Amino acid sequence: MEIVTRFAPSPTGYLHIGGIRTALFSWAYAKKNKGKFILRIEDTDVERSTQEAVEIIKNGMKWLKLDHDDDIIFQTQRFDRYKELIKALLDQGDAYYCYTSKAELDQLRELQVSQGIKPKYDGRWRPEENKNLPDIPDNVQPVIRFKTPQNGEINWKDLVKGEVAIKNEELDDLIIARPDGTPTYNFCVVVDDWDMKVTHVIRGDDHVNNTPRQINLLKALNAPIPQYAHLSMILASDGQKMSKRHGAASVMQFRDDGYLPEAVTNYLARLGWSHGDDEIFSLSELAEWFDFDHITSSAAQFDKEKLDWINNHYIKNEPVDKLAALIKPRLIDRGVSRVETDILNDAIKLYQDREKNLNTFADDILFFFQDIKVSDELKNKYLSEKSKSLIRAFVGELEKVNWTNDDVDKFIKAFVKYEDIRFPEIAMPLRVIITGTDNTPSIGSIIFIVGIEVVKKRISVILE
Ligand code: GLU
Repeated sequence: MEIVTRFAPSPTGYLHIGGIRTALFSWAYAKKNKGKFILRIEDTDVERSTQEAVEIIKNGMKWLKLDHDDDIIFQTQRFDRYKELIKALLDQGDAYYCYTSKAELDQLRELQVSQGIKPKYDGRWRPEENKNLPDIPDNVQPVIRFKTPQNGEINWKDLVKGEVAIKNEELDDLIIARPDGTPTYNFCVVVDDWDMKVTHVIRGDDHVNNTPRQINLLKALNAPIPQYAHLSMILASDGQKMSKRHGAASVMQFRDDGYLPEAVTNYLARLGWSHGDDEIFSLSELAEWFDFDHITSSAAQFDKEKLDWINNHYIKNEPVDKLAALIKPRLIDRGVSRVETDILNDAIKLYQDREKNLNTFADDILFFFQDIKVSDELKNKYLSEKSKSLIRAFVGELEKVNWTNDDVDKFIKAFVKYEDIRFPEIAMPLRVIITGTDNTPSIGSIIFIVGIEVVKKRISVILE
């Protein structure tokens, strides 16, 4: 039997990281089993669904390289099929029209609450043997309800949570069609999972309560029951539910915040799943290793430091030309008018080991392309009269150096020796003057990359 998984987002907002992790695990399980991974857009809530949100989902999946099989399925294009099956349930006596008005439902709820019982539809329109139904009112458009079994329980072996059992008596007679005839959420999911031959439903555990309802519907439709895996929530570092307020809650925000897609998928895969002590693995390794046994059922906590650490790993190992393509637009955003390719490539090579994200990367190498300002604090700390006179001597000699990185390094060492100073006594003032900061990689390499003209210019600006 072919393994089929699906990612079924509702296009009602941004694609949040919990959703992406669901997509990632669904993708990985399908790949591991040489099965199929379907992308299904659950857009039946027409009022809340937007085309913009659909684009966000598509772009997010593309950015993360989570390729799906087949064409994207949109639920709004399948209304005929849902209606056909709603009719089948009506015909076979598993569904019925319910004319209870909103006011009546409110009244019922109030009564139940005042009696201390859990609010629930009382089944007044549910046809039973020897039961007289109320007269059909004139001005109420009916909903269609599913005749949920009243006894017994629904249980399943959740691939993450283990045995779950829910009594049918806890469940309402679910509305499967609204007054205007449109099908409701749980019904569409059931029909789609069945029609698309989904074998494994992997989703967030906010859907656990829907599962017994969906299983009841599948049984009534005589459809096979898939396996279920309900993934725990992702909490923010403060223990709260992850939300926009916590910054990078949406997938495209990660891109804008300077993360590489490989780092995001690697990090999210580790959030709640493990493979021995492995922290770094590619998407294809995930697809090879993924299993349900190593998913934790407790909530996972988002850890930005760990994400940064993983992002640094990928930045360190990314080919220079790829990084250049990502960093160049960021430099332009920061006001650089001309980005020389050679300088950019050299700067990237020099900095890539230390960078945690592409934005701070661009900030850190901006001085290669733009004039800088030295703060008074740094001036006071590093630019004493003595260091200024060292700098003067240094720049005078620098003209004579053969312009290779090696020769510049050798020259600085020789200068230190000749002046009988410690290395930082010349390196720190130079660093501050050329880069505007006191924390950079090798000053020799920086001087070599920016070139003698820029070095001379920045020194003269400071010394004047
Ligand atoms: N559309 C649902 C959501 O975005 C997911 C439904 C499912 O995976 O069954 O939460």
